[in-house]
Amino acid sequence: MCGIVGYLGKKQAAPVLLDGLRKLEYRGYDSAGLAIMTPEGEIDIAKAKGRLKVLEELTRGGKSLSGVCGIGHTRWATHGEPSENNAHPHCNDEKTIAAVHNGIIENYAELKEKLTRKGYNFYSQTDTEVATKLVDYYYKKYGDPIRAISEFALRVRGSYALAVINKDYPDSIFAIRKDSPMIVGVAGGDAFLASDVPAILKYTKSVYYVDNMQIARLEKGGVTFYNLDGEEVSKEIVEISWDAEAAEKGGYEHFMLKEIHEQPKVVKDTLNYIYRNGGLDFSEVGLSDGDFKKINGIVVVGCGSAYHAGVVMQYVTEDLARVPVRVELASEFRYRNPVLTDELVIAISQSGETADTLAAVRAAREKGLKTLAIVNVVGSSIAREADYVFYTKAGPEISVATTKAYSAQLIACYAFAIKLAKLHGQIDGDYYAKLLKELLSLPEKIEYLLSRKELIQKFAAKTMDRNDVFFIGRGTDYAVCIEGSLKLKEISYVHSEAYAAGELKHGTISLIEDGTLVLGILTQKNLVEKTLSNLIETASRGALIAAIAAESVKLSENSLDFVFRIPDSDEHFIASLAVIPLQFFAYYLSVLRGNDVDKPRNLAKSVTVE
Ligand code: GLU
Repeated sequence: MCGIVGYLGKKQAAPVLLDGLRKLEYRGYDSAGLAIMTPEGEIDIAKAKGRLKVLEELTRGGKSLSGVCGIGHTRWATHGEPSENNAHPHCNDEKTIAAVHNGIIENYAELKEKLTRKGYNFYSQTDTEVATKLVDYYYKKYGDPIRAISEFALRVRGSYALAVINKDYPDSIFAIRKDSPMIVGVAGGDAFLASDVPAILKYTKSVYYVDNMQIARLEKGGVTFYNLDGEEVSKEIVEISWDAEAAEKGGYEHFMLKEIHEQPKVVKDTLNYIYRNGGLDFSEVGLSDGDFKKINGIVVVGCGSAYHAGVVMQYVTEDLARVPVRVELASEFRYRNPVLTDELVIAISQSGETADTLAAVRAAREKGLKTLAIVNVVGSSIAREADYVFYTKAGPEISVATTKAYSAQLIACYAFAIKLAKLHGQIDGDYYAKLLKELLSLPEKIEYLLSRKELIQKFAAKTMDRNDVFFIGRGTDYAVCIEGSLKLKEISYVHSEAYAAGELKHGTISLIEDGTLVLGILTQKNLVEKTLSNLIETASRGALIAAIAAESVKLSENSLDFVFRIPDSDEHFIASLAVIPLQFFAYYLSVLRGNDVDKPRNLAKSVTVE
């Protein structure tokens, strides 16, 4: 994971790099570091364990490091504990080459052995130090910085976005990527490099998406790209439409709170992407009506919340379109040799860089299957490798725990399901129009739920000392439960489980004891009574019971400890509403428990490692 940045231009580099790292801190935050080319032509390195602010204090906001060219890193340790020693940048003994790296060098042990035999010493436990010294080795051997990087790429296995500075080329940054994201931006005479767009949005919206195994050389006034043979390749510049403010907190206490509040807008924006002339138009996605008609089966792959969006998709698509859908964790799908015939594989990922999901797309394509990406980041790896791309319009999501990107994914899933149902003749024109009307009403209903957040805040305050929370539901309510439970675990660190309500009796109910909080989602009319009975069963065993229920669901509210009502909606889409109070619940519990909401422990956003 981690974030890397690079800058070369007219400004003092260190403050620009720190600024970029701040925007990338969601990607990793156990240590950080900078390497700057000084005006005297030396490489100056500053590193610190802990959050970025420790490095900011150490370097007085970057002011103590002079120079106009440098690279920076915020780490999410994979090889070696978080420590100053293991923090990036790493350099050679002579301090003439320094590098930052995002990813994992899988064959680092064997390369380390080789380099040790050649006389190299190692001072950290990282694979990155090996990568740096491998580049140094080939630079010394061939005297050519581009060749050195090509030779590196030919020898390493794994994933990397690597940026290197070299004392012999004080006005250049060299970089390469494979399966870890990296973009290059230009503005006037300045050149930028980053793992993700928000890091450089403040300075430029003109970016290049570096392809796998492509080498970039940043110089004052321009960037040159090379293939592994050292031949120049031309690339197109992409203009980013996101605002710089979209990557700022905008007065909210946390990014997560801001992003929860952005949901009406992102749902609307995502709908606008495919809603045209009173119908759903998938031409920008690349799917024609004929393509839809040919779909006989679907496999949805994703990780974490994206997988949970896939579970909703399965329920909704099978019900509406009567096309078989199975949903799989991308990390399992990629290795388990699944039986596939001619299914459409739908890959869901916010970043479009999730390593396991990308691998699943590749595995599907290798088997000759068509793939549809539902991703949020334009030009991301999954977007580029899939046959069709549905861009969710969530804008930059900074908080590690996803909210708005998940909501946007749900919209993509619903729209796909409705279109498929229509083209497979499973729904008539009237029902189609009704479903679309329901979809279009979601932003307003979400807005209403946002206005009721204090109710959840109070409930969170009352239950903040619970150690175990169970979420139960049936149908799409169950799909919402798994997302609500994950949210809670991620940021409040409260143990929680999500159970299909009917499963509770098959073992899990033995975990219920006095005071355990059990929260039922009650929106699916034909299932509500059953879930309610399951909820009451837990109350008989001492549980505190709460419900998130649709407005028209009849409840004797006295038998429950807390009820939160959500507006009625078509049952297929109500997950978009039921999830909102659960996001708030996780958020407020996290705040009340004094956690770092946007940067929960041990986690990072955009999981670009396996
Ligand atoms: N594998 C490298 C390390 O552990 C980089 C990890 C990252 O992407 O932050 O230092």
